[in-house]
Order: sequence, then C-alpha cells, then structure tokens
Amino acid sequence: APVKLSSVVDASRYVSATTAATLTVAIRVRPLVRAEIARGGRRDIIRVLDSRVVLVLDPDDTKDYLDQVQNRTKEKRFTFDIAFGPGCTNRDVYNGTVRDLIGGVLEGINTTVFAYGATGSGKTYSMVGTQQDPGLMILCLEKIFADRDAAHRDEDFSVTCSYLEVYNEIIFDLLVKSSSPLELREDPELGVVVAGLKHITVTSAAEIMGLLEDGNRRRKTEATDANASSSRSHAVLEITVRRTPKNHYKVTQLRGKLSLVDLAGSERAAETNNAGQKLRDGANINRSLLALANCINALGKANGAKGAAAYVPYRNSKLTRLLKDGLSGNSRTAMVATVSGSSDQYHHSINTLKYADRAKEIKTHVNVGTVESHVADYQRIIDNLQSEVQDLRA
Ligand code: ADP
Ligand code: MG
Repeated sequence: APVKLSSVVDASRYVSATTAATLTVAIRVRPLVRAEIARGGRRDIIRVLDSRVVLVLDPDDTKDYLDQVQNRTKEKRFTFDIAFGPGCTNRDVYNGTVRDLIGGVLEGINTTVFAYGATGSGKTYSMVGTQQDPGLMILCLEKIFADRDAAHRDEDFSVTCSYLEVYNEIIFDLLVKSSSPLELREDPELGVVVAGLKHITVTSAAEIMGLLEDGNRRRKTEATDANASSSRSHAVLEITVRRTPKNHYKVTQLRGKLSLVDLAGSERAAETNNAGQKLRDGANINRSLLALANCINALGKANGAKGAAAYVPYRNSKLTRLLKDGLSGNSRTAMVATVSGSSDQYHHSINTLKYADRAKEIKTHVNVGTVESHVADYQRIIDNLQSEVQDLRA
C-alpha cells in the first residue's frame, strides 16, 4: 500500500519563532522520498503536532500505530521552538526560523544557522534546496538584497560570500577547483579568519546557486555502509554584509556575518561500521559535533538565565573556532534539526531529536499552543492513521 504523507500542519500558521531569542531550535521532518516508498515496508512514523510537538511512533509496533496515538502508549514526544512537517517547503522553514534574524545581520549581529541530522535526513535540501524550492542559503541572500533595496539606498552596501568545508579537522575552500588545506588565524580586527580563503562579491541571490552546487560537488564524499554518498564534511557558507554611510566625515562601517552550516551526517562512527581513514573521519566529525553541542548548550544556558554571560567552549574543534563570532557574545543561533519520517530511520531520528532537545534544554518552559488547536491536530493525526490502517488492510 502507498504510504500517505500526512502533513498535519498548516504552513500558513508559521510565524517566526525567533523573535530576539539567542538560540532557536527547529525540527524538520522530511517526507519519505519516492525510492523509499518504492522499496516498501517503510512507514511514516513521525508526526508534527501543533507546530511545536513531534510525536515518534514505535516502528516495531506497526500494527498498532493507531492505538499508540489514541491511547498514548509507546509514543515519544519532543517539544521544540517550532516543528515543520513533511508538507512544509523551504520557504516555510525559512519564514519560521531565519527570516527575522536577517534584520539583525544588517545591524551587525553575527548569526549562525545549522542544519543538523543524519545522512539523508534533508540537511542539504534545507540549506541549498532546488530551483523549485530554494533553500535557506538562497532565501537569506534574497532577503538581504530585498532589505537593501527597501531601506539602504544612501550607503555603500556590499555582500561577500565564502564557502568552505571542514573535513577531518582540515579546512578546504569550496569556491576553488582544488583547494589546499587552509589555516585558521586570529585577526585583531576581523576575529577568526581563514588565511587564503576566497571571498566573492555577490550582487544577487541568483548568482550563488550555481556556486553552491559546484562547491557541493567538491565536498568530500565517500561511500560508507550507512549511505552510498554520505557527506563526511561540514560545509559553511559565510555571508558578510558591510554597510558604510555615504557623505559622512567620520565613516564607521557596520559589519554583520551570517554563517549557514550544512553539518556532516550525525550518525555515530560505531554505526557506520568503518575502519581506518573513514573511522578517523567519523571520530573527527564527532569531535566537531560534540564541541558544537557543548557550545550550543552553553548558549542555551545563557538564554535561560537572562543576562548571565556564559562560557562557550568554542576552542575544542575547527568548526567551533571558525564559528566563534557567531557562537559567543552578541550573536544569534538557529538550529534546524532534520529527520526522516521513515520507520527504518527510527534510531537516527531519535538521536537527532535528543541532540536538539538537549540544545534547548535550558530554555524556559514552552507553552504548547492553544488547547483547541492541540486537540484538532491530534484528531487529524488519528484520522490520518485511521485511513492509513484502512489502506494497509485493502
Ligand atoms: P542530507 O544532506 O541530510 O544527507 P539530503 O538533503 O541530500 O540529505 O536529502 C536526502 C534526499 O531526500 C534527497 O534526495 C533530497 O532531495 C530528499 N529530501 C530531503 N528533504 C526533502 C524535503 N523536505 N522534501 C522533499 N525531498 C527531500
Ligand atoms: Mg548533504
């Protein structure tokens, strides 16, 4: 029987969840892709409730999905700042997460956006996207240029981009054909910089799509048992906006940095059953992801205890050193954790949900929508499951 992709969330409900928060944690459940449906035997086990709550059904108990939800037996629930179901587009995700952070970037607030999740869960789709459904990287640039056109005509306004990868704790430039390893330096004025990295001036969002696609083809990919084209590197698009007022004697330049990070697959090295070089990659990937988790956690603490300065342990990996400016001080961070709704991805999805859950752990208690919409959503999930059960019987 075909798997029904029951999108239970009305995308128009997405207003931004980011207003002035230091750290926003979003979850995105991708739909089952055609190949997964064709292979059969997979069920859609993750449901989004009330735009904030994610329900995960027990994949081993496929006969009793309905019972799991109706009687609240084995289901697992997680609550996030915002949750996107399989019917959502990249623009929905953008509207609910980073759109309202762009204004801050133009005012000089460093901002970092992560896509975190297992290989195949939809990180690159969310960040880069397709021509029909452009990803966050493209949509952010579009917004930067739109805001410039709307309000910043009387100044010099420049946008530059760099695109790099951190592979096995080594940095490579993704904008050049064959990059040699690049070093991190501390610049007294600019902060952490990558020596020799190419920066290009961009004048429209459309220009960048091709460069991102070329760059992604250069990313280090290697076959692992987990996935035929598992991405083993972290890719970072850094967008720097510089604004200088015209006709001023004392010229001060405002500089804001937006880093969009497509992280390596989060699946654990132990699970990928590798050896030698690949295992080392796994360990280093974990090192960066672990360091990142600690930084995000520290940010979460700062978020909960308003005003308290948090120690953010960014020195523990290349990735976190690189992102230092966007992870400490006056900065904002959003994490989009991606999961597949497919039953065979259950363990990966649970791990990702737990990671994201820890990231927002410290935040003040969330208030889960109105009671009415909560009940309506539950009813919709139950209706969907009922028709799926009928399809299975048919
Ligand atoms: P990752 O970068 O996390 O390894 P990808 O972004 O490459 O995963 O996604 C894996 C597959 O799933 C791709 O074929 C991609 O087109 C598809 N996919 C991911 N997210 C979505 C989505 N939201 N809607 C439709 N297809 C998606
Ligand atoms: Mg990818």
